[in-house]
Amino acid sequence: MNSRITKRPVLAIAAVALIVLFIPLFQKWKTNSLNGGQKPAEPFRIAGNLYYVGANDVTSFLITSPQGHVLIDGGYPGTAPMIMQSIAKLGFNIRDVKILLNSHWHLDHAGGLAALQKASGAELWVSERDANTVANGGAGDPTLGPFGFIMYLPGFHYPAPRVDHRFKDGAKVRLGPIELTAHVTAGHTRGCTSWAFPVHDSGRDLLALDVCGLELGLPVWLLDRTYPEFRTDFEHTFATLRGLPVDIFLTTHARKFGRWRKFQARATAKNPADPFIDRKGYLELIDQDEKRFRLYEASEHLAEVDDHLHTRDVPSNRIADYAGLAFRRADLHRLVAPIDEPYVLHAQCKVSVTLEFPIVDSG
Ligand SMILES: [Zn+2]
Ligand SMILES: [Zn+2]
Repeated sequence: MNSRITKRPVLAIAAVALIVLFIPLFQKWKTNSLNGGQKPAEPFRIAGNLYYVGANDVTSFLITSPQGHVLIDGGYPGTAPMIMQSIAKLGFNIRDVKILLNSHWHLDHAGGLAALQKASGAELWVSERDANTVANGGAGDPTLGPFGFIMYLPGFHYPAPRVDHRFKDGAKVRLGPIELTAHVTAGHTRGCTSWAFPVHDSGRDLLALDVCGLELGLPVWLLDRTYPEFRTDFEHTFATLRGLPVDIFLTTHARKFGRWRKFQARATAKNPADPFIDRKGYLELIDQDEKRFRLYEASEHLAEVDDHLHTRDVPSNRIADYAGLAFRRADLHRLVAPIDEPYVLHAQCKVSVTLEFPIVDSG
């Protein structure tokens, strides 16, 4: 009995200490899960009536006109206040944002839409293949299959905005002199939308495109069950992107269009818009992401390539091309880095596989 009495205050002190320790940790987790660790970024004019108003990585773009503004993407739930501050810092009013657009339903691009819609009163346009998921705060996307429950958990589920318009590939969205074309470049999600629009800058007519994600959104083994048409969607996406005469390319994650590098370059450029006119960078982006997609595809046939080469007395842990270049199978699976110096492996077996990738020599 005595020992129970003396233990009680010790336990109580320990419990209080634990709570005191965990509150800041919990708050930090909550902040991070709400904004994905995003930091505010300096807003700036890219060209003409096009402005950067996103965070340091997840992007948002403002297209302005005297009849009202268009805002593309809302970042994480915790990014929305940063976007609103950026719009105000540029001298614009969030209440003048009449149209909200979305690239795709993922938390890092649709999570802040509800807050932005509440502050602006804007109408939201989402492609019909992603619309239900956005309207459900990220829940219910069929591609998640049995893992769909994750999107109901705190930290994944986001405040649901009101979806006012659902559209198909090729739809036009107009506001005063602004006209955007929706290119449904699916694959990353079923409704992933790249937004194309003209920008007038210093007497130049330029075409801007905010490219939706081009990476696989989920592992292939899951996609094969839940979204088997992702391969044909990606083929259509790469063909569509190659066919667009894009001058200024933007992306849903800022590092992919070189926001920081180009932002710094504009300080010394003859015209601050010049660093963003980058057709070469646009084609490199498509090349790189398409090669990565082909690599994923081809790696599916590795077992067959292995079988074939094994019968030709190639060491079982190595695959060799006909020119004698060799690499370990594990290296192939690690390759997700930008592809700079492509080598070609061509193996004739049940399926004909051509892989282009750098050889990783790790001994
Ligand atoms: Zn995404
Ligand atoms: Zn993303």
